Amino acid sequence: KSNYKEDINATRQSLPAYKSRDALLSMIRENQVSIIIGETGSGKTTQLPQYLYEDGFTSNGKIIGVTQPRRVAAMSVAKRVAQEMDVKIKEEVGYTIRFEDFSSSNTKIKFMTDGILLREALLDNDLDKYSCIMIDEAHERTLNTDVMLGILKDLLQRRKDLKLIITSATMNAMKFSKFFGNAPQFTIPGRTFPVEINYSKHPVSDYVEAAVKQAVNIHMSTSIQSGDILIFMTGQEDVEVTTDTIRERLLELYRKKGDFTSPNDDLEDIEIYPIYSALAPEFQNRIFRKLDISKRKIVIATNIAETSLTIDGIRYVIDCGYSKLKVYNPRIGLDALATTPISLANANQRSGRAGRTAPGVAYRLYTEESVENDMYTSTIPEIQRTNLSNTVLLLKSLGIKNVLCFPFIDMPPIQTLLSSLYELWSIGAIDNFGELTKLGTEMSKLPLQPSLSKILLKSVEFGCSAEMLIIVSMLSIPQIFQRPKGREKESDKERSRFFIAGSDHLTLLNVYLQWKSNRFSTKWCTKCFIQSRSLSKAEDIRKQLLRVMESQNIQLKSIGSNWDVIRHCICTGFSHQAAKLSGLKRYVHLRTGMHTQIHPTSALFGMGDLPPYVIYNELLMTSSEYLVCVTAVDPFWLMESSLLMYDIKKQNAENEYSTG
Ligand code: ADP
Ligand code: MG
Repeated sequence: KSNYKEDINATRQSLPAYKSRDALLSMIRENQVSIIIGETGSGKTTQLPQYLYEDGFTSNGKIIGVTQPRRVAAMSVAKRVAQEMDVKIKEEVGYTIRFEDFSSSNTKIKFMTDGILLREALLDNDLDKYSCIMIDEAHERTLNTDVMLGILKDLLQRRKDLKLIITSATMNAMKFSKFFGNAPQFTIPGRTFPVEINYSKHPVSDYVEAAVKQAVNIHMSTSIQSGDILIFMTGQEDVEVTTDTIRERLLELYRKKGDFTSPNDDLEDIEIYPIYSALAPEFQNRIFRKLDISKRKIVIATNIAETSLTIDGIRYVIDCGYSKLKVYNPRIGLDALATTPISLANANQRSGRAGRTAPGVAYRLYTEESVENDMYTSTIPEIQRTNLSNTVLLLKSLGIKNVLCFPFIDMPPIQTLLSSLYELWSIGAIDNFGELTKLGTEMSKLPLQPSLSKILLKSVEFGCSAEMLIIVSMLSIPQIFQRPKGREKESDKERSRFFIAGSDHLTLLNVYLQWKSNRFSTKWCTKCFIQSRSLSKAEDIRKQLLRVMESQNIQLKSIGSNWDVIRHCICTGFSHQAAKLSGLKRYVHLRTGMHTQIHPTSALFGMGDLPPYVIYNELLMTSSEYLVCVTAVDPFWLMESSLLMYDIKKQNAENEYSTG
């Protein structure tokens, strides 16, 4: 045990932040706001909160709050700090992310997502329980970070005793300093090694294949001791495909070379780990494992490994040049995840991962010309490219009358703010004067998107809140149906057994109910090609939301299998996301006139007669636009929300125009 402690201490003291410990603390003591800049891995996230704690910043009974843009990071970093402090998680060190609270009244250092801190600001405007707030990874400029910074700017005037620490990679630091009245900056001196950068000679058409080739090539042509490999991919899907393909390719090679004597031989000198947000926690921590020197690690990551998580020992980086970004198009008023070229700042962060422990090599799977011609210098902040309805609802609940005057560090497009106001008005969260309605106030108290809050609250009137609670919980988790390679037909057939005519929402409800009547069995899930882990997660979320409902006196009522009532209720929250059949298989979006179609995974996809009107939960933009999670609705329900009227008016106007 004492050996372990010595080890931990030695590791902590070897981090670059340690040499600056005293300077950092005195800067924080002397200033209300401090900007701290440092290379990834210098110890900002794990060390600074501990320094503050050791230096007595919690002795007045208040606590240290640290925000992270990502759920995974909040969780992983809290666990690491608890381990370093030799305490149990949920005791002195805790974390809170949406639907998971691992903090307690003993917690002195609390990690959380920035969204959680925003919710806390809603309940306690002055964030009184905190003596220090550290906004970590601020350079990522996530929506919630930006909103939090605006709120803090105001709060610091009222709470002169509150310390704000903003930590950032090197980009953007000046902007934060200016925003907070020229707050002082401190750069943690770090040691980084040069990284040799290689570009692709020709544009790459399949970056998964290119990455696989490159990784296999590095592994076969360098010594294992020369270091580990980190591959940046865009999202869960291509991370998984890359992981599997590298494994297959290497097995094949080893077999050919005759390294394997029996067909059951496995790759012994290599560990291949995927990492992405939705990966189960027990698998996430594997990437930090120290391997025996006879083994090499290949980590395939989303941009989570760009700055949030530091993996030691990386010498080779392979960068596909893309990431998945939430993009909002204010003209059509829709949010979508899109695979987008990264910015130069991201590219440099990614390459930099190779030079932490020794000189490294980065392989960029794009051409040098494309960097000069096509890449932005830095990424456009999320607040300027995403849907703001949740944010606007939050600002309204914080008592901000005119959201156009909120101190945004970068102003979002006015069009986006206006279309969020429109959405909130159309679902009844704000009135004609832009004031929060009673319903809007209730909506803001639920940890859900405005549309989902609306249908959950409305479902009490409709008498179907038990069913709606299940639907909302099921919507909060990714992908529940599996479609394993080689068994597509079989799994599609299983899936279709759950379909409820004309509604993916009801299909989700049906899956849950059947799972329940099979006593939540994992075996049953496997048989039906359903991810049991996702369903358990949905059940967790359902229980958490149930507790929230109880605390807000929202009654639980069941309507059994009266599907029409449930569809009607869903419609009340999605009238701004409605589409009308136009032609054989195509739909047009009611408000914007944009053309779309039903996604092949939908229960409606194969239907002979498609319903004339539908609402949808999500829009997927790939080669064309798809509606994901769709429910057929009665046009009269839409009329109630006056949206169809709008459509009819527009058609009349168009008719007049063409005939006149
Ligand atoms: P920064 O925030 O400046 O990027 P961190 O505080 O996250 O740096 O990381 C400091 C060191 O702690 C790194 O060497 C990193 O590898 C190590 N570390 C962080 N999390 C873990 C973990 N869960 N397990 C093992 N080591 C970790
Ligand atoms: Mg960090």
